[in-house]
Amino acid sequence: MPSLVQPHGGTLIDRVVPPSEAEAFRAAARPLESLVLDARELADLELIATGATSPLTGFLGSADYESVLARMRLADGTVWPLPLTLAVSDEDAARIARGAPVALRDASGRLAGTIVVREVHRRDPLAEARAVYRTEERAHPGVAYLLARPVNLVAGEIRALLPEEPPFARHRLSPRQLRARIAERGWTRVAGFQTRNPIHRAHEHLTKLALEVTDGLVIHPLVGETKGDDVPAEVRFRAYEALLERYYPPDRTLLAAFPAAMRYAGPREALFHALVRKNYGITHFIVGRDHAGVGRYYGPLEAQQIFEKFTPAELGITPLRFDATFFCRACDMLASPRTCPHPPSERLDLSGSRVREILRAGGNLPSEFTRPEVAEILRTHLGAKPKGRVLRRPGGFIVWFTGLSGAGKSTLAERVRDVLAAERAVEILDGDEVRTHLSKGLGFSREDRDTNIRRIGFVARLLARNGVVAITAAISPYAETRAEMRRIAEEEGIPFVEVYADAALDALIRRDVKGLYRKALAGEIAHFTGVSDPYEPPLAPEVVVHTDREEPETSLAAIVRFLAERGLAAASRKAAA
Ligand SMILES: [Zn+2]
Repeated sequence: MPSLVQPHGGTLIDRVVPPSEAEAFRAAARPLESLVLDARELADLELIATGATSPLTGFLGSADYESVLARMRLADGTVWPLPLTLAVSDEDAARIARGAPVALRDASGRLAGTIVVREVHRRDPLAEARAVYRTEERAHPGVAYLLARPVNLVAGEIRALLPEEPPFARHRLSPRQLRARIAERGWTRVAGFQTRNPIHRAHEHLTKLALEVTDGLVIHPLVGETKGDDVPAEVRFRAYEALLERYYPPDRTLLAAFPAAMRYAGPREALFHALVRKNYGITHFIVGRDHAGVGRYYGPLEAQQIFEKFTPAELGITPLRFDATFFCRACDMLASPRTCPHPPSERLDLSGSRVREILRAGGNLPSEFTRPEVAEILRTHLGAKPKGRVLRRPGGFIVWFTGLSGAGKSTLAERVRDVLAAERAVEILDGDEVRTHLSKGLGFSREDRDTNIRRIGFVARLLARNGVVAITAAISPYAETRAEMRRIAEEEGIPFVEVYADAALDALIRRDVKGLYRKALAGEIAHFTGVSDPYEPPLAPEVVVHTDREEPETSLAAIVRFLAERGLAAASRKAAA
């Protein structure tokens, strides 16, 4: 296969025990001393054995280890940014003999491989943390892992049995297997995309930009251990498969699992991710902002800049550096700061936690942000978590207006209904109407007002859980009661959008459409909110509209835009523009 890229260091390592020799290998390992590997070490063992981490043939000895920490090279000068190590307790270190094979097992005792112990050395965990992660903070998941492991490191050449029924078996292609697929397709320029997340539109855009200038694309998601809050690999693979099936050319795309654990080492790990991809036959590696980063430990461009420390010949793989991409409403397309002149306010940019929040609440992500097929899979995954036993039809949510009398709540509620009615069933629970029918007889004491609001909230939830958009337009003056309505709705998975119709009291008194303020100020109406009763404005409403100084169209557009961003009114963005 002469057209394929050279493996890192020149030789594709193979330390896998062939199936035909597995039985003899197991028998030979039975009398050996054993070491138990954790998930990351088992992942590293597989990477080394399959040649993914060529030229490594085993866990690092002291010379390579020190060299990697100090200068991102193996002792022989080959570029290598991460120390792959096997840590053992003091007792284990004392027990195993140098120069002899030792069995490597997982926590359940399954034989994973053997190592011929060449050396046992010790590390300084804080020095390793500083070199690799550039911090000693335990809040960094890589540092936390490192400091929890023993300091004795066993080095030596390994051999490994591959798991017989590995997760993602269908997509688990060894470097040799992936190279063969690439060769079959005749690709010379091969783009590789590393990810540990579901692919949203922004990253789909990156991968397709890469595919525009290469022969083929390998989507190569990491399936080893990640942080607890990353989406599990099984779920991600369902989403990748759905995406590839519908939106990628099958003859120009391959999906394969990359069985490494995440270290969150930022720039060093970005370099590692790129170098090992050579061994899989990849020639061009996509490096986005803050690749393999976590928290704020690394600058957003450092993962791209690290490649500049080495010559192209030393690297042997071309980094494809991309800026952050997003959907820009003004461009009406996916873009980046390199291609879009508009301010960040035009960007449809949802954080990972916001995405989870929306999906958990049963909401839809805007299709410009996430393909509906992917959103559905993520929602099902998140929805599997217990959140109450209320049965719900999809699509319903609550728009909760609050504001003083005369601030325009009813008018805006009707306008929002008119926009949404084209795509959903919508009902308005108007304050005055509710008091006529649902809450007849209630007065305006704090207690009666709260009862009124709880009744409105109850009906709104009934509607929303049956797929109806419920818009409430009552003064709802008390923050605590509104918060209670929100909490109950969200516990039932119903999205709750609070809209504050903000208008200055003196403007309302001047306007006084119904003549109520005049009467209230004259003492003819008791308990009048804003005059003789309190109004507690919301501290963090989803939308604020300033009805005393903006046109209703402007207020309406702000509300509909928010609903569209939340994926609650996908078709309405243009209607409101
Ligand atoms: Zn733009």
